[in-house]
Amino acid sequence: MKIILLGAPGAGKGTVAKLLTEYDGSVQISTGDIIRGAVKSGTKLGMQAKTYMDAGDLVPDELIMEIMKERLAEPNCRQRFILDGFPRTIPQAQALKGLMEELKIRLDFVVSLEVPRDVILDRLTTRRTCANSDCQEIYNIKSNPPLPDGTCIKCGSPTIQRDDETEAAIQHRLETYAKKTSPLIEFYQKEGLLKEFTSLNSKDTVAAIKKQLS
Ligand code: ADP
Ligand code: ZN
Repeated sequence: MKIILLGAPGAGKGTVAKLLTEYDGSVQISTGDIIRGAVKSGTKLGMQAKTYMDAGDLVPDELIMEIMKERLAEPNCRQRFILDGFPRTIPQAQALKGLMEELKIRLDFVVSLEVPRDVILDRLTTRRTCANSDCQEIYNIKSNPPLPDGTCIKCGSPTIQRDDETEAAIQHRLETYAKKTSPLIEFYQKEGLLKEFTSLNSKDTVAAIKKQLS
């Protein structure tokens, strides 16, 4: 498949993307994971991106496009991919459109995950992430907890609350989403690519997306 996942922070893009990769071996391309990896390994890109990220701000479009141009040109992306967390702004969407034309890639469709705001707030404040940048497994202290001592079930590293998952940063991210990212819904509607899914349960959502694909 070749799809874009759109949704507010906490809408479940990461979880849905992971489940979809198991379906047909598509690669999940998460800009958030790529940036966090770069921060961890202290690259120039990572250092530039970190301040924006920690404040819950978007990383500038030029920086993101630099990363994505490279990533999408990799051979394993041509056939199957799930874009998770990208594009996030109208300029990114326009740049992506040009890039797709250049690489002769055609999207199946754009998935918009619709989740009520109170559900989103609850999910974000209870989320924990494995601190190991090679793992980054996501947990939820209510519905999917790590081990009792707080370590990751997969790799044993500590799990942490991300700097951008404090109350204040979350509020700010939701505002940024409303202002910068939600206009993409109309953008892709006009392109004739948008499909909306009410998403309270990731497994049901994945089943609905698969049905649309076949
Ligand atoms: P979430 O979807 O929960 O906000 P992500 O892991 O997708 O988390 O992204 C975390 C942070 O990384 C964002 O708050 C932002 O700072 C940065 N980021 C990720 N993707 C993009 C993007 N496409 N454009 C700009 N910034 C991005
Ligand atoms: Zn782990």
